[in-house]
Amino acid sequence: MSVGGPRIALNTGHEIPQLGIGTYLIPREDTERLVAEALEIGYRHIDGAASYGNEREIGRAIAASGIPREEIFVTTKLWNDRHAGDEPRRAFEESLGRLGLEYVDLYLIHWPVPSEDRYVHAWHRLEAIRDEGLARSIGVSNFLVEHLERLARESDTVPAVDQIELHPAFQQAELVARARARGTAIEAWSPLGRGRYPVLEEEPIVRAAAAHGRTPAQVALRWQLQRGHVIFPKTARPERLRENHAILDFELTADEEAAITALDRDGRVGRHPNTVGVSIP
Ligand code: NDP
Repeated sequence: MSVGGPRIALNTGHEIPQLGIGTYLIPREDTERLVAEALEIGYRHIDGAASYGNEREIGRAIAASGIPREEIFVTTKLWNDRHAGDEPRRAFEESLGRLGLEYVDLYLIHWPVPSEDRYVHAWHRLEAIRDEGLARSIGVSNFLVEHLERLARESDTVPAVDQIELHPAFQQAELVARARARGTAIEAWSPLGRGRYPVLEEEPIVRAAAAHGRTPAQVALRWQLQRGHVIFPKTARPERLRENHAILDFELTADEEAAITALDRDGRVGRHPNTVGVSIP
């Protein structure tokens, strides 16, 4: 197993570590320390966004780590009020400046914001950023089938990823299948359901945890890896950074995986993408 755990191939020819850390709601003052700790543990993938307000601190931790840049996979995202005109390019340059990097590995449109209807324009701007080598891969987040289909009609670039809400109670099977059929990898945001429903108390998860001598969180995250999803659980606690990373050396049986998959029940915990406008952080 290479440092950073298993990797999956993106449609751009680049590889992404399947396990990373999320940085939404990590307080700015804790971000540099937590990212440094994560890199020390062996994480090599950081999921960020302009709207999380902590890109500068992520960049500082990367710079101080001494780890070669090409060994760390960094994602950031274009916020909703910057789809128009030259704004995507300006927003990207601001993110890159805050991160202190020469390129990012993955740049995403954070939400489609269909009420503004500018995501196709923004996508073309991301293609230009990709063509300049400033983002190695480009992708989308919170895009539904209808948004992906529109991009397919109006662009030659298939998004490298679609980063969507996905956890045992909300699996979006049709969207996952349709995206993958076109070559788009799935990133599962809120892989632990953000603590908003008792994913860690679900019976098949608790049972598998006991069987493998692991925690329910480790089982839920392991299930995600075995389903082929890219994940970046968020924790503000160093001991949980270790716990969430220690999922690479055990395997759920086919029956255990199937029992967790059977928990799917339309249990969305975040926002429906079509209800998110320009100003919801
Ligand atoms: P997660 O599903 O990762 O859940 C985070 C919650 O789980 C926190 O309350 C955390 O608490 C807790 N937790 C973490 N590890 C454990 C553990 N081992 N045992 C028990 N509880 C645990 O939710 P997020 O919404 O943060 O999603 C992860 C990442 O996905 C984000 O940080 C962000 O990078 C991305 N994301 C993207 C979105 C998008 O629109 N593209 C939307 C939402 C998220 P504590 O911190 O106290 O440990």
